[in-house]
Formats: sequence, structure tokens, C-alpha cells
Amino acid sequence: MLRIGITGGIGSGKTTVCKIFETLGVPVYYADDRAKWLMVHEPKLVNQIKSLLGTEAYLPDGSLNRQYVAGKIFKKNSLRLGLNAIVHPAVQQDGQQWFNQLGDVPYGLYEAALLYESGGYQSFDFIIVVTAPEALRIERVVKRDGTTPEAVAARINSQMPEVEKVKKADFVINNDGQHSLIKEVLKIHHQLLDRC
Ligand code: ATP
Repeated sequence: MLRIGITGGIGSGKTTVCKIFETLGVPVYYADDRAKWLMVHEPKLVNQIKSLLGTEAYLPDGSLNRQYVAGKIFKKNSLRLGLNAIVHPAVQQDGQQWFNQLGDVPYGLYEAALLYESGGYQSFDFIIVVTAPEALRIERVVKRDGTTPEAVAARINSQMPEVEKVKKADFVINNDGQHSLIKEVLKIHHQLLDRC
């Protein structure tokens, strides 16, 4: 079974593309959603986060104190990097366990926004990068999240430039609204099946 990573900057359309793969029966691990779950339910990770950011990182009901955590990591870059250094390996390990229990499928997809930035890309057979023009990504995220173009642009600037990701990719899906996403996904699906 092939282990495929799928990534792309904020608003590039990773999740949208993964939903199409799912309709073809391909199992998908959504690393960013799973990270949020693990940060609350994995005791070792919870303790590491409390040691790094303080016990106030969690509310009395055990949920993550998002406002407090965001305040801490935006003020101090070393804390943001420290949190990533704790969370990314834990999610990558959980993702590999997920692949191990998949059974008899030709390939599975691991979707994450920061696959290159975290170094996690090394554990996959192939990487798919989803890309779209920056203005379109901003427009889509503003519409999806009700945020401002400036806030989206700031997040884009904190990520590896899309052009670098495209250069490193094994497969590229161009989600510029001009290409048929379904056709692009089908093409890569068949290329991957040929390599199994
Ligand atoms: P994030 O990194 O923020 O999780 P993402 O890369 O997973 O983003 P999506 O959530 O898939 O991106 O897409 C961003 C928004 O753009 C969504 O609201 C989605 O419905 C919309 N979108 C994505 N692709 C297209 C498209 N080809 N045409 C129209 N809307 C699209």
C-alpha cells in the first residue's frame, strides 16, 4: 500500500480535493483535524503542552483554551515553534498507525497544511501539492471563514511559498477554477494505481 501525502497552502483546496478522492473509495487522514483531537485526548501530548505553555492552556472542562494558546504563540515565536515541535511528531506517529491498520487498499492519503514545513513529507511514497493563485485563495478563505483578506495574507506569508511546494511535488493539482478538479483527481488516481 502506498502512503501519499497531500498538501498545499491555506485555501488551496486540499480538503475539497480529498473529498473527491474519498468518493473514489480512497481513505483520507485529515491531520489538522486529528491534531486538534489529539491535543485534547492524548494524555502525553496534553502534559507536554501544559509544560510548554502553562496549565492555563486547558479550560476546567479539559478543552483547549484556544484564546490563551493563540495569545502565547503569536507573542513569542519560540513558543509557536515549540508547540509545533511537540504536536507535529505526535500527529505523524498517529498518522502512520492509521496507515498500518488500513488493510487491503492500494493507497491512502494523509492531508496536512504544513507537510513540508514540518519535515513530515519524508515519510511518504509520493506527495501531491494542491495549488491555486494567491488572490483566489484569499477570496475563498474570506468567504469560507468570514475573515479579512489581511488575516489570510498574513497566514499565507507564514507558510512556505506555494511555488517552492510545487517544485518539490511528485504530483500537482491546479485548483485555479479553470481546470476540472474531478479530471485532475482521476488522472492522479490512475497514475497512483499504476504504481501500486
Ligand atoms: P485550509 O488550509 O484552510 O484548510 P484547504 O486547502 O483545505 O484550506 P478548502 O477548504 O478545500 O481549502 O477550500 C477553501 C474554500 O474554497 C472552501 O470553501 C471550498 O469550498 C472553496 N473551493 C475550493 N476549491 C474550489 C473550486 N475549485 N471552486 C470553488 N470553490 C472552491
